[in-house]
Amino acid sequence: MDIQKIRADFPILQTQVYGKPLVYLDNAATTQKPKLVLDAIQDYYTQYNSNVHRGVHYLSQKATGAYEEARKKATAFINAKHAHEVIFTRGTTDGINLVASSFGRKFLKEGDSIVISAIEHHSNIVPWQMICEERGASIKVIPVNEKGELVLETLDELLDERVKLVALTYISNTLGTINPVKEVIARAHQQNIPVLVDAAQAAPHLPLDVQDLDVDFMALSAHKMYGPTGFGVLYGKEDWLNQMPPYQGGGDMIKSVSFQKTTYNVLPLKFEAGTPSIAEAIAFGAAIDYIQEIGISNIQETESQLYSYAVDALRTIDELRFIGEANNRAASISFLVGDAHPFDIGEILDKQGIAVRTGHHCTEPIMQYFKIPGTVRASIAMYNTPEEIDKLVVGVKKAITLLN
Ligand code: PLP
Repeated sequence: MDIQKIRADFPILQTQVYGKPLVYLDNAATTQKPKLVLDAIQDYYTQYNSNVHRGVHYLSQKATGAYEEARKKATAFINAKHAHEVIFTRGTTDGINLVASSFGRKFLKEGDSIVISAIEHHSNIVPWQMICEERGASIKVIPVNEKGELVLETLDELLDERVKLVALTYISNTLGTINPVKEVIARAHQQNIPVLVDAAQAAPHLPLDVQDLDVDFMALSAHKMYGPTGFGVLYGKEDWLNQMPPYQGGGDMIKSVSFQKTTYNVLPLKFEAGTPSIAEAIAFGAAIDYIQEIGISNIQETESQLYSYAVDALRTIDELRFIGEANNRAASISFLVGDAHPFDIGEILDKQGIAVRTGHHCTEPIMQYFKIPGTVRASIAMYNTPEEIDKLVVGVKKAITLLN
């Protein structure tokens, strides 16, 4: 991988902040966008802006073609069997809410439960709490150990006959832990329990194959994979999606409407009410093209080397303590430095042009487990370099000097 060539594709990476070159290490929050993604948005609005699925005219057909082409690209990217199993959403949060609401209303009864893990993002906790409260069901949690790895020995006990679904993140946005989702899916399926995988952090970093995983639902966000914000994909197995009621009502999701009876559209439109995010879908397609051209396995390999480099480099700082040291990790590195508040470290790094994230990273339960208010999180993407990691290390050392 030619990182300098890749960097040249991202206009924002040439930016200076406080007169210093930007070192962007907040990729788990959102990634930067290559020019071809920005161009796709511009081209749509300047050349063929029109609503999809409804028009016979030229522009509408062109927009519809581009929108559905994006679905085909997403289908190939996750190796789904059918394009109609790929539902366009506003992002991971929206996809999980769709399943919680629709699957929950159909299948969740009083006394049932949903199994999640201790390292979930709030968006894979709160929607389940909301639907469980409504249905008189409860949440059960797969615990983690000190390293931030799932304690899988608890799984057989947790997966009893009242469990209706397991919802699990693939990669933790806070600790970087890569969960053994394939194993969890296989074990849940032995009890006929479906599994939803939150792939928000996995999608930009490792190959996704929904058929190989045999996963029932998978949610991801375009903006974490070099695409636009407010857009994403929910994959669902055809069989489940066909059994589930629509999430929202409105245009596009119907076959016919009368005041007596409405019939719903086929997949995926049944779950796509209203005018969708057309420019975002098309730009997401461009982002997928970009990733595919570089190759997700190449990205995984290069990032894995950079990740190890970063861990080794940060380990040289005596006062630094990693939060989460799972054997299998990627993308995000969380740490604390002495007694310093993460926010203070983040602010000092910021003044040196280094963007990291501080706080609980929408994973408050895991902060409570480690009994800390938050962490400093550096998260990498394919365009980051060892030189940027060196700057991070220098930055953290400077923060230690300034705070002492
Ligand atoms: N799940 C994980 C693991 C995440 O890291 C995030 C975002 O940080 C989300 C879900 C929510 O994604 P979005 O805000 O794009 O819906």
